[in-house]
Amino acid sequence: MDLTKYPKRKYTLSETPIEKLENLTKVLGGPNIFMKRDDMLGLTAGGNKTRKLEFLAADALEQGADTLITCGGVQSNHCRLTLAAAVREGLKCQLVLEETDYSLYNPKASGNNLLYHLMGAEKIKVTTAGHDLAEDMQELNEELAREGRKGYMIPVGGSNETGTLGYIACAKEIIGQSGDMAITFDHIITPSGSGGTQAGLVAGFSGSDRGNHVIGINVSRNREEQEHLIRDLLERTFSFLRTDGITKEAIRCYGDYVGPGYAIPTPEMVEAVQLVARTEGILLDPVYTGKAMAGLIDLVRQGHFKRNENVLFIHTGGTPALYEYSSVMLSEEN
Ligand SMILES: *Cc1c(COP(=O)(O)O)cnc(C)c1O
Repeated sequence: MDLTKYPKRKYTLSETPIEKLENLTKVLGGPNIFMKRDDMLGLTAGGNKTRKLEFLAADALEQGADTLITCGGVQSNHCRLTLAAAVREGLKCQLVLEETDYSLYNPKASGNNLLYHLMGAEKIKVTTAGHDLAEDMQELNEELAREGRKGYMIPVGGSNETGTLGYIACAKEIIGQSGDMAITFDHIITPSGSGGTQAGLVAGFSGSDRGNHVIGINVSRNREEQEHLIRDLLERTFSFLRTDGITKEAIRCYGDYVGPGYAIPTPEMVEAVQLVARTEGILLDPVYTGKAMAGLIDLVRQGHFKRNENVLFIHTGGTPALYEYSSVMLSEEN
């Protein structure tokens, strides 16, 4: 899969490290747990959207856009990073934020919200749950057109064919590092939300035998819905790249760790965030990597992996949201 013909900006100077989590491995009693530190990617406070935005922002520039428009939850890492990319490129950025019963918009909130304001989002439009976000973005886009400007709309999570290229590139990076380290990763675990990360990894590893070993831990949907979402995105990505598809078995999503819903804390998430902080000094986030790590811990406890296997956890970032969840993190303290 040759990605060189797609325009790409560079927001991270080097590859992100793969670290062995010796202490966590010991506490859990094996398998060997490694972490791909995509929380250390470039742009403001890092995280997986940076890789997608390298391709999305390049496409926006090539199309002559002057404003990036995107959408997400009220504490969206994707909105924060899209804004950061816009700032870097000298573009404006407008955001549509979706309120839910659990997460209401508070203009004074900390976390990602603080960063939207600090980096100067040009416009923030708040909308209620279930509203068609694409429609809201379209309205902003038409307003810009009336002013003689040109918007570039990025879907939720940056998960379209173009954004997914970022995680095909990440899979290639992992294959190179795995060779340099002389380690084979038997399983690759990633949080799975809007799907671009998992779909990109599956596509990037396809052709190697790693393709069948990517496990997505869902953060919002049940197994069936998420697998359907990933399959659909993979099909669109393969047709965009004009290459062949992959087998159904390569798409595996686990829906048991979502809890009551997207961005709603679970006791297992709190335990996972605390455990990784206290064994490795590494911060996870409450919405994505905390739940995915809760999944990994549970799978280890269930004996899903062999003791001597190597498991690679993709740390997709999101730590700014942690600071908006301090009451939850502290209330479970004992
Ligand atoms: C968006 C996000 C994810 C999920 O990635 P998708 O490509 O949307 O599935 C995981 N972790 C963090 C921190 C995110 O912001």
